[in-house]
This record gives sequence, C-alpha cells and structure tokens, in this order.
Amino acid sequence: KYILAIESSCDDTSAAVLCNTKVLSNVVATQEIHKQYGGVVPELASRAHQQNIVPVVHQALAKANIDKNQLSAIAFTRGPGLMGSLLVGTSFAKSLALGLHVPLIAVNHMEAHILAHFIDDKDQSAPAFPFLAMTISGGHTQIVKVTDHFKMEVLGETLDDAVGEAFDKSAKLMGLPYPGGPLIDKYAKLGNPGAYPFPKPKVDGLDFSFSGLKTSILYFLNRETQKDPGFVSQNINDICASVQFTILEILMDKLQLAVEQTGIKRIAIGGGVAANSGIRQRLVDAEEKLGWQTFIPKFEYCTDNAAMIGIVGYLKYEKGEFTDQSIAAKARYAIGSE
Ligand code: ATP
Ligand code: FE
Repeated sequence: KYILAIESSCDDTSAAVLCNTKVLSNVVATQEIHKQYGGVVPELASRAHQQNIVPVVHQALAKANIDKNQLSAIAFTRGPGLMGSLLVGTSFAKSLALGLHVPLIAVNHMEAHILAHFIDDKDQSAPAFPFLAMTISGGHTQIVKVTDHFKMEVLGETLDDAVGEAFDKSAKLMGLPYPGGPLIDKYAKLGNPGAYPFPKPKVDGLDFSFSGLKTSILYFLNRETQKDPGFVSQNINDICASVQFTILEILMDKLQLAVEQTGIKRIAIGGGVAANSGIRQRLVDAEEKLGWQTFIPKFEYCTDNAAMIGIVGYLKYEKGEFTDQSIAAKARYAIGSE
C-alpha cells in the first residue's frame, strides 16, 4: 500500500509517502517567515502553506519514486492546530483523493505524535501495549495511557502553557530567536544546571503548569540585568542549563508519578520537545535507575512531519477507517474524539 500523507497544522508544510510502515519520503518545508515576529503568525502560516503544498507534495512523490496514480489512499491532519493552516492541507487532501478516486483518511495530529513510534517497525522496536506516552510539543503537554493503536486515555495535561512554549518563551526572555527550544538545548550542554535554581510548580496529579516558571524567569532576568546589563549574554549557558533542568525535573516527576499510579513502566515520548537532548538522556538514565523501558523516536519524527501522519494513515487503512468528502478541519480536536 502506498499512502501519501499531508501535514499542515502549524508552521511546517510536510508531505510523506509510505509503503506500509516504511517511509519512502518525508519532505518538510519549514516556514522561516515567522522568525522575525518571534512566534507563528497564523495568517502568514496559511499563506505559506498555500505556496508550499504543491511543490512539497511533488517532491515527496519524486523522492519516493512513486507516481500519484499508484497511491492507495491520502491521509491528512484534520486537527488540532491553526484553522487557516489546517484548511490548506485538508482541502488539498480532499481534492486529490477525489481526483484520484482513492480513499481519504483523517488523522489526529496528537495521536500521530504518539503513533510515530510505529514507523518502520519491521524489527518490532515499537513499544508493546499498554504503554505511557508523554507528548511534549509546542501546543501540548500530555501523559497518555495507550492500550491499543486507537485506544488512548489522557491521564494528565497542561493547565496553561505547553512545555514547548515554556522553552520558546524563556528563550525569548533571553533575547534568543524563535523557536528558542533547540537553542536552549544547545547552550544548556555547555552550562551548569544548578547555577540558578527556579521553583517547580505545585500541581496535583498528572497535570502540568509552566506559566509560573516563565514568570519567575522574567523576574530573575529583570533583577539581574538591572545589576549588570551584560548578565544574560555572559551567563547564557548557565541560564539555559538551569531553565532546561527545571523543565526536565517537572516532566520526570510527573512521569514517575504516572508510573506509580498505573504500574506501567514502558514509556514513550513524542512531539517536538522529544528532540531535546536532555530529556533523551534522562530517559536513557531511567532505564538503569528506575527499570523503565523507554522509547524515543528518531529526531525527524519528533517535530512536525507528515511521516507520522502517514503511519496513522496506514494503520487506519488496514482497519478500513476512511472518511468522506464532508469532513472538515478541526482546530480543537481531543485525542480519541470523533
Ligand atoms: P502541537 O504538536 O502541540 O500542535 P507543534 O506542532 O507546534 O505543537 P512540534 O512541532 O511538535 O509542536 O514541536 C515544536 C516545539 O518543540 C517548539 O516549541 C520547539 O521549541 C520545541 N523543540 C524542538 N526541538 C527542541 C529541543 N531540542 N529542545 C527543546 N525544545 C525543542
Ligand atoms: Fe506537533
């Protein structure tokens, strides 16, 4: 089965071709336009998707060496995400499926971040059921109990900012360009994580909160730069290491609680922040220290990509779960909902 997958939920236009679970191509066009604004501008994102979508799909087909007439189905991101962005991918996928007379498959972006673990699963390296998935991305922070490919229960999520936002907003406070997450990761490697202790939020159960951390970083930076205007640039490595350390502590504390509550020690991470080298190391350490079995996706399947939409497309294709032309994009779209 050849499946073409389209992802356009935020600021990356992506298309992938899969042959069953194998990725033949995965093209991602990242929109650079948002950098100058320090965050994604929805109106500009949808315009850029309009421009990118046809060339990106052509490139994906060419790289896979597949003609569009060989496609078995078209999968696309229905939501959640920015409405204007989702509309571009949704409309394109609907039209293409109609033109090619092939089935159309709607995919939930957050389920895709989790099911990305099943890409290229010929050596059965994917987590066995049940497992706990921690999805850490630019718009979400969730701990999900996964009992089957399509049986997922959200055990906890953020009450305010997502963890990716916490990274990006902290970076912005330090004057770093958007998206700041990867830069904090880079500088943190060179700094001392214990240099500046920040308080951890007190949130019950498995829910998260990151807005308080952002405020304490703001106050801290204001106080220090008043004393010494060069404080941030002179101590960027230590500040980044300390911020990242606090964020990772918050994530690991909740994961430990989730393991205690469920008795499940198989942990899979996903989403853009799963690209962070610190969290990857923490999980590797947890294998030895806590006896967990951990699963970390390949780098390119952490941040937004169409390959993860394609694997969900394949799994739904096998179940015959198709949608019709009346389908509409959905900006707010909870895991497991219709
Ligand atoms: P969602 O999936 O919730 O709709 P999104 O699609 O915008 O949100 P992703 O593309 O999954 O989010 O992730 C982007 C986020 O990941 C950004 O906030 C970015 O800063 C963060 N990120 C990427 N790489 C790293 C890294 N190495 N360290 C920390 N954060 C990172
Ligand atoms: Fe995402």
